Amino acid sequence: MSRNAGQVTVVTGGSRGIGAAVALHLARAGHAVAIGYEHAQEAAERTAAAVREAGAACLAVRVDVSDEAAVDALFDAATAQLGPVTGLVNNAGVTGLLGRFTETPVARMRRVLDVNVTGALICARRAALEMSTRRGGAGGAIVNISSAAATLGSPGEYVHYAASKAAVDAMTVGLSKELAAEGIRVNSVQPGLIATDIHAAMGAPDRARTKAAVVPMGRAGEPAEIAGAVAWLLSPEASYTTGAVLRVAGGL
Ligand code: NAP
Repeated sequence: MSRNAGQVTVVTGGSRGIGAAVALHLARAGHAVAIGYEHAQEAAERTAAAVREAGAACLAVRVDVSDEAAVDALFDAATAQLGPVTGLVNNAGVTGLLGRFTETPVARMRRVLDVNVTGALICARRAALEMSTRRGGAGGAIVNISSAAATLGSPGEYVHYAASKAAVDAMTVGLSKELAAEGIRVNSVQPGLIATDIHAAMGAPDRARTKAAVVPMGRAGEPAEIAGAVAWLLSPEASYTTGAVLRVAGGL
């Protein structure tokens, strides 16, 4: 039997990109997976089908992570259909269009903070309520997907996004300490430049290629290269790892 049998993991933003690769990797490692997505229903259904093909139970639920009631509905559905939730991958995230700070509309900054920070907090809060041994849960693990931007600052591109990811890492540090005695480990993964649709959404579809030269390894990473790190942090092999911020960025 898989070492991860009985693990039920919620992956937000699991329809595409890094989240989809994480969902698939976790399925192969024996987790049942609940995928959250915002709009891309077809992509979510495709990822869910691939997860099921890998032998794991899976459901895909539409959710805006910045909406507490919608997050509750995602966790309720996961628990009802897959069993008690044992893990969360806080992966849903947006950047908004690339641009200089002074030319970035405040409404765009607000949305990025709302999804990347408030959304991650809402999901972590619900996961902690489910998993805390102090509240009768069985413990578990949370992996927050932040970004190398959290320490690089991303001048001229999206300083507000970099700030949101630094907030995610601060949340990892604080929650890891607050929840350690309640059986919950909390860690961050900081991807660097990864080839996904997020660059097209920023208005620069070729960005993963055009920026490859700034990466010491000379190339963008693939979503699957992030998924392995996330799966390890969720696994029993990482049983003494909490509060870690793991850079997976080709040397960036
Ligand atoms: P992506 O390909 O653009 O996918 C984003 C995912 O997040 C999609 O599943 C999307 O759902 C979902 N999402 C967006 N807003 C949401 C909301 N309000 N509620 C629920 N789901 C929402 O992005 P990615 O590149 O895989 O990025 C995943 C994570 O890695 C993000 O947190 C990102 O900041 C981080 N990251 C990415 C890179 C990179 O270079 N790609 C680097 C560092 C960090 P729909 O499919 O329904 O739209």
